[in-house]
Formats: sequence, structure tokens, C-alpha cells
Amino acid sequence: MSLKKQLINEQGIRTDGRGIDDLRPIKITLGYLAHANGSVLYEQGKNKILAAVFGPSEVHPKHAELPDRAILRVRYRMAPFSTEERKSPAPTRREIELSMVIRNALESVVLTELFPRTAIDIFIEVLQADAGTRVAGVTAAALALADAGIPMKGITAGCAVGKVDGKIVCDLNDIEDKEGEADMPIVYIPTLGKISLLQMDGLMTQEEFKQALSKAINSAMKVYQLQVNALKTKYIKVER
Ligand code: ADP
Repeated sequence: MSLKKQLINEQGIRTDGRGIDDLRPIKITLGYLAHANGSVLYEQGKNKILAAVFGPSEVHPKHAELPDRAILRVRYRMAPFSTEERKSPAPTRREIELSMVIRNALESVVLTELFPRTAIDIFIEVLQADAGTRVAGVTAAALALADAGIPMKGITAGCAVGKVDGKIVCDLNDIEDKEGEADMPIVYIPTLGKISLLQMDGLMTQEEFKQALSKAINSAMKVYQLQVNALKTKYIKVER
């Protein structure tokens, strides 16, 4: 007899009560920090992610500056109290690699050529983690960049999909991420119709991959709609 925990019941309901295509509830609080040029508290289910943007500002050390564009510096960190088991406060290899992966995803949209010889610093602090933090981090970073008034070709919207109990599901939570058969985080740029991050952990057939990709883009579009609504609510004031 298999001891594997059932993650989707006969009615198609997941452990947290969602259907297979449902996202976790999303809450966006723009301008969360007083001292950043742009910031957001982004909550997606139990994920709580703070993103803060500083700059464009002078580059230190000077030799790191580029004559034709700004450099993006991204720091993704998980707080020691963000997971059930306390994580070491020292930066892990995973955090260093994810900082790079997130920077690459954002470089496709930020108009860095408008700010030569400067640096734009993006801090992504995961206060509470429940899977999907890299994509939630990119979603939050785009909001903080927009809040800072940094021009972009579009907004990056992220969501993970995966294979759980043989089904393709959207926005995996921690137990689904750990016990499921596959996890595929993606970041989509709706205005360009392009994907700027796609990773996969686990196995899917070609058919499952096609279904996962289409569900990931649909999920990212839902995230994008919420990003746009939050930005419009803060920045578009109706004249009376
Ligand atoms: P992502 O958060 O992008 O899904 P991973 O797949 O690496 O990235 O991690 C999945 C989840 O596992 C994280 O969101 C977090 O809840 C948990 N996790 C990651 N690293 C640690 C760690 N060092 N200690 C405890 N839990 C962790």
C-alpha cells in the first residue's frame, strides 16, 4: 500500500480548499516602506514578500558602472523566521542563485538604457514562505519598480504551476511543491507576450507540459490584472 498523502480529493479539491486552477488569495500593498523609492508588501496565500527599490543612483564601486545603461542589482533573501524550521541567516547558494534568476527575469523589462552609469537596487525579502516565492518575488519586484517610477516595457507577472496527484494544478503551496510530481515556476510579460523565466523541477510528458504552460500563462494573466488594478488605484486619481 502506498503511504503517499492524497493532495487532491475525489471532488478535485486541494488540501487548502482550492480547485485545481485556483490561485491563492493575493493582496498588494503599494508604498509599504517610507524610505524606499518604491515598495510593496505582496501576499499570496501564506507567502508574505516585501520588495523595495532604490535608485537609479551612483554606482559604488565605480568600476561596476556601465557606460550605456544602468545595472540592476537584485538581492533575494528568506528571513530566518520565514519557514517552519528556522533557516540559517547566512545567505545560501539557493538565495544567491535565485537573486540572479530574478535579475535576469527583470532585465527583459526595465529600460536600463535610460539611466547609464547608475545602479537600481531591488531587495526582495521573504518574510513568510509557502512555495512559489521566486515568482512572487518577481511579481513584487515589478510592482516596487513601477511604484518607484522606473520605466519598463511591461510588468512581469509570475505564477508557478505543477503536477500534483497526476493533475496539472496552478499556484502550488508548500506541501504540493514538496510532495507533488513536478513544479514549474514561470514569469510572463503580458504586454510583450513573452516569458522571462521558466524553470522546471520534476517530470512531465510533452502533453502535460503544454497544458502546464497554458495554465501558467492564464494564472500569470490573473496576477497581472491584480497588479494593474493596484497600480491604477494608487496612481490614477479621478478628476471631479
Ligand atoms: P520557491 O519558493 O520559488 O518555490 P523552492 O522550490 O526552492 O522555491 O522552495 C519551495 C519552498 O520550500 C519555499 O517557498 C519555502 O516554503 C521552502 N523552503 C525553501 N528553502 C527552505 C529552507 N532553507 N528551509 C526551509 N524551507 C525552505
